[in-house]
Amino acid sequence: MSGKNTAVWVNPMTSSPKWCRPIRIRYVKETAPVVQEEFRRMKMEISNLQPTFLDLQNNSISIQHRMLFTMADVKIMNIITSTPSNKHCYICRASTALFHNLSELQNMTPVDEEFLDFGLNKPRPGSANSNDGNTARRFFKNPRVASEITGVSEELITRLGNLLVAISCGKFLDAERFQRYAYKTAQLYVKKYGWYRMPPTLHKLLLHGHEVIQRSQFPIGHLSEEPQEALNKEILRMRRNHTRKCSRYI
Ligand SMILES: [Zn+2]
Repeated sequence: MSGKNTAVWVNPMTSSPKWCRPIRIRYVKETAPVVQEEFRRMKMEISNLQPTFLDLQNNSISIQHRMLFTMADVKIMNIITSTPSNKHCYICRASTALFHNLSELQNMTPVDEEFLDFGLNKPRPGSANSNDGNTARRFFKNPRVASEITGVSEELITRLGNLLVAISCGKFLDAERFQRYAYKTAQLYVKKYGWYRMPPTLHKLLLHGHEVIQRSQFPIGHLSEEPQEALNKEILRMRRNHTRKCSRYI
């Protein structure tokens, strides 16, 4: 609209598992070459899409399609960005050994601006314990109790909880204020827990969150990986009920 970034229509149901569909399901081991091949294929499919033309009250509108590759987990992002290991940040390539050196990290720029389009992965508890979304929600809702139980600083829990709410809320965020708040949180983390290396997901949230917000044309909460995660149960069901269980050869 006159060369400006104006939202004509905003999807009210972004990241809803109900309105998302898998494009294709492949029963193949998730190796680096397979992931890269799928990524190239998706990019190619999107670039081959023809613009949609609309004629509204004698105004012809052309709609271009652009792919935002945000619905993938850290493992996939690392493969696509050729990050050497999961101990590195795929945006600035710093390793966990450097994550506590905040003043040096502030001067580091993203290796490729396009990597910021991948969005932020929400920190998630490991799979080998009983922590899930509900536990995490209760944990951050009661910072005082959570602090009493775990011994982790109440201020840090409160700040991290606020940041998680901010990136999930689906509203436009002020990148500068987010940067100030996140940087202070990173300083608090390093001051109190300098002995425990910051996980890469937390580093991305605290040090690169504002860059991702600045670059994104959408509220950051719209770019979640929720539908992809929700699809896991469907894949389990398909594997159980719609695959061959016996040998092709008798
Ligand atoms: Zn980084």
